[in-house]
Amino acid sequence: MASPKTQNKYHPTIGIECHVQLKTVTKLFAAVGNDAREAAPNTLVSHICFGMPGALPVLNKEAVALASRAAFALGTTPQKFSRFDRKHYFYPDLPKGYQITQFYYPIIVGGKIKIEVDGEEKTVGINKAHIEEDAGKSTHPAGADYSLVDLNRAGTPLLEIVTEPDMHSAAEVRACARELYLRMKYADVSYANLYYGNMRFDVNVSISSDPTELGTRSETKNLNSFRSVEKVVEYEIKRQTQLLEKGEKIVQETRGWDDAKQRTFSQRSKEDAHDYRYFPEPDLPPVVLSDEYIEEVRKIVPIMPEQWRERLAGLGLDKSQTELLLDAEVDDEQVSYLSLIEANLSNTDFAKRLVNWLINVEIPLRREKEIPTLFSDHDRTRKYLEIYKLSVNGSLNSTKAKELIESLLTLESLPDDIAAHAKEKGFIQVSDEGEILKIVDQVLAQNPKAADDVKTGETKAIGFLVGQVMKESRGKANPELANELIRRQLGM
Ligand code: ADP
Ligand code: MG
Repeated sequence: MASPKTQNKYHPTIGIECHVQLKTVTKLFAAVGNDAREAAPNTLVSHICFGMPGALPVLNKEAVALASRAAFALGTTPQKFSRFDRKHYFYPDLPKGYQITQFYYPIIVGGKIKIEVDGEEKTVGINKAHIEEDAGKSTHPAGADYSLVDLNRAGTPLLEIVTEPDMHSAAEVRACARELYLRMKYADVSYANLYYGNMRFDVNVSISSDPTELGTRSETKNLNSFRSVEKVVEYEIKRQTQLLEKGEKIVQETRGWDDAKQRTFSQRSKEDAHDYRYFPEPDLPPVVLSDEYIEEVRKIVPIMPEQWRERLAGLGLDKSQTELLLDAEVDDEQVSYLSLIEANLSNTDFAKRLVNWLINVEIPLRREKEIPTLFSDHDRTRKYLEIYKLSVNGSLNSTKAKELIESLLTLESLPDDIAAHAKEKGFIQVSDEGEILKIVDQVLAQNPKAADDVKTGETKAIGFLVGQVMKESRGKANPELANELIRRQLGM
């Protein structure tokens, strides 16, 4: 592999294409179910999916609505005029012999997204995004002299988003792929489940010794994880650097990613590129959107990640904490953390603790195991507010607050009196001087060495003694009071 030094001689440039399956109930041009995840092969099909002669496509208006919403999510508005074309190629999973796609007049033109890498913000331009139909799926059973074709996916609506070649490192490309994912998720236009292939990325990489000129690119297709996207960019930069270093030429080609071998491989070069013979689809009228329609769509665009980042800004969170919340929000469809935080933003001190509890208790717990309990929004706020009050008035220490949250999360419904429940379950900390003093005396007697250390100025030993008191009290002692009493008993 090339050394970092030779790599710096070349300026990498990357642009990505991203296929997003739109979450319509039915297919793009046929009244057939669109959710192929669990369906047996070739059960979600009709004469249209099979491309029977004379079968006429009917445009699913929900797909247009979702693509229009996606335009806002990409920082622009949908085009008032778009149209479908036929793209011809021959492959068993495309029975019609052409794909219906928007080539000349896509529904989205322009747009931009912001990404941040290593504290540096940058903008990636969106070149365009168009609606098209997905193809079926071919499988080639090992050792068999035949292939299998499943047309369940044929005709699933896709939005293909094409970025400008605005990225220059693997980290930027990963950030861009994640940002596209978040935006499609938040806009609620796709299930965007990478595992099920609801979102797939094609990565175009070139390098050039002259930063003002683009080199010849390779296009690695069909990646379905942020990690593989990142790996492909790293691999391609190294591979192309090596070729140029050897005085060889880079050929424009389509490549695939071998995840087991962690390398790209050539699939076809541009010489065998098809002539797609595009022409306007005669069986579909153009898509014409009125100003009123576009304004109606604008009104229902949900809050985008960028806006959430702004709204959370007042809480003084680390970038990583904010991004963790943004990810967690879409990981689990059952709960909304952000709306809970949002409802309590005016009480900054409480909101900060709430975020801390969500990040450190509730989110990890929900990731670890299934938690069936679904409290109402009112109850979720009430739960955290009560715990907050108990913490502020010294009844709950941080460990017990955490345990109380965990125990409440697993209940079917919230107890009417959370404070009483906490007391009953033994979460309330002991702030009774007499009671803690007894434990302190016992701990000091059992740990004379540590007690001496404290007296001679080894402040670390105090922490140890407080820890012992906490242990003796089974976590229920008020640690601040324990600290104070230890010092007092040692005459400090
Ligand atoms: P095609 O439709 O043939 O794939 P496009 O011109 O539409 O080609 O570009 C596809 C993608 O490749 C876009 O994301 C674009 O930003 C990117 N791209 C184009 N040229 C280069 C290049 N020289 N280096 C890196 N990326 C490129
Ligand atoms: Mg392409």
